[in-house]
Amino acid sequence: MPKVLVILGRQGSGKGTQAALLAERYGVIHISTGDMLRAAVAAGTELGLRAKAVMDVGNLVGDDIMIGIVDERLSSDDIQANGVLLDGFPRTTAQADALARILGGSGPDLAINLDVPIAEVTKRMLARGRGDDTTEAIARRLDLYEAETAPLLEWFEARDCLSVVDGLGTEEEVFARLSQVIDTR
Ligand code: AMP
Repeated sequence: MPKVLVILGRQGSGKGTQAALLAERYGVIHISTGDMLRAAVAAGTELGLRAKAVMDVGNLVGDDIMIGIVDERLSSDDIQANGVLLDGFPRTTAQADALARILGGSGPDLAINLDVPIAEVTKRMLARGRGDDTTEAIARRLDLYEAETAPLLEWFEARDCLSVVDGLGTEEEVFARLSQVIDTR
């Protein structure tokens, strides 16, 4: 089995930026399901057309679709050879259960929760001004995070692979904290 790392965090926590830096440092493949969906939207594929409407209002794309996409991607040679850092997946308990099935029954090697308070991520998302960052969509995504994704922290804790990292501070400070957690694991 390749090395499997997961990074969790509210939208706007900086996890996408940090995931890209970590993937480079540890030589694993960075898989962002949000980026994959945005690429599908930009390419105008059938998946993209379906996903766009869901993403625009801040809802989650269906578990079956997401699990299918990730399952297929994880079986590719580059990931089998180098390992993977999952960013944005799993986001629901059903997705986490599916991931465990894909991995042959176990959890990932390590799941990091990049922790940034709600007030701070809201401020950051409004400042980045992405197309899907309307006030309503931001509020909806944060609600869904608490309802659907926060329970995953217990899922990972039960499998003894959860670490929580403070996501406040400069990019360099946060990267140093994340690297230390991975190095000591
Ligand atoms: P992100 O770039 O991770 O913030 O994802 C952007 C949007 O893509 C989310 O608001 C969801 O609509 C959708 N999305 C990304 N990953 C998932 C996932 N694992 N499950 C469901 N929806 C997802």
